[in-house]
Amino acid sequence: KKPVIAIDGYSSTGKSSISKVIADKLDLIHLDTGALYRGVTWFALQHCADENGSINLDQLFSSLGQIELEFKNDEGELVLYLNHADISKQIRSNEVSDNVSLVAKQKEVRDFLLQSQRSLAEKGGIIMDGRDIGTVVLPNADFKFFLTASIDERTKRRYNELLSLGIEADEQQVKENLIERDKIDSEREIAPLKKADDAIVIDNTHLTKKETIEVMLSYIVK
Ligand code: C5P
Repeated sequence: KKPVIAIDGYSSTGKSSISKVIADKLDLIHLDTGALYRGVTWFALQHCADENGSINLDQLFSSLGQIELEFKNDEGELVLYLNHADISKQIRSNEVSDNVSLVAKQKEVRDFLLQSQRSLAEKGGIIMDGRDIGTVVLPNADFKFFLTASIDERTKRRYNELLSLGIEADEQQVKENLIERDKIDSEREIAPLKKADDAIVIDNTHLTKKETIEVMLSYIVK
């Protein structure tokens, strides 16, 4: 049976891009769970926010039933659709990054996304990245990794990612957003960002993406 792999860690440690490569190599499905929280946040900003962009959480909770999130395969790239519209670029916007941790700390939102994440892993053959995969979503995963890197290195990576997407960014603001999100994600009551007791920790501050992948594969492929 193909493995179930959980990858958690701080923002911009390369979780998603690394998971994608490992999924290709081992013929697994890759689920970027952060994209789901970003998708809900994008919906909230469109439909449950006032003119200042402040989200009304009660309105969001009562609208969750109207949200249909789906990944579609577009020439090998998984693209996130919200109610049949491609939102893969929108979910990377600064507006979403600034609000996603507030949305993600709500129990209603986490409950809404939990079951679909779990059912995707039932048949095995999946690598899922996020913040609570090894601790809450897939506590019985075959392999668990927890990625970390210095804040300056992570800032550089996120800044370059935004530039490559054509999104304007300010390095200082990127850094503040990462610090703020990690703080909210680690301190929240439900499913906080935390290393699972049995996770393998990899600090990749001084590792390339390729090197990080090699370390991980050395545990998985024996
Ligand atoms: O992975 P990414 O940085 O895109 O995730 C965006 C946000 O979604 C995180 O900062 C966190 O607030 C939330 N998230 C979460 N649980 C997950 C994945 C993401 O709370 N499993």
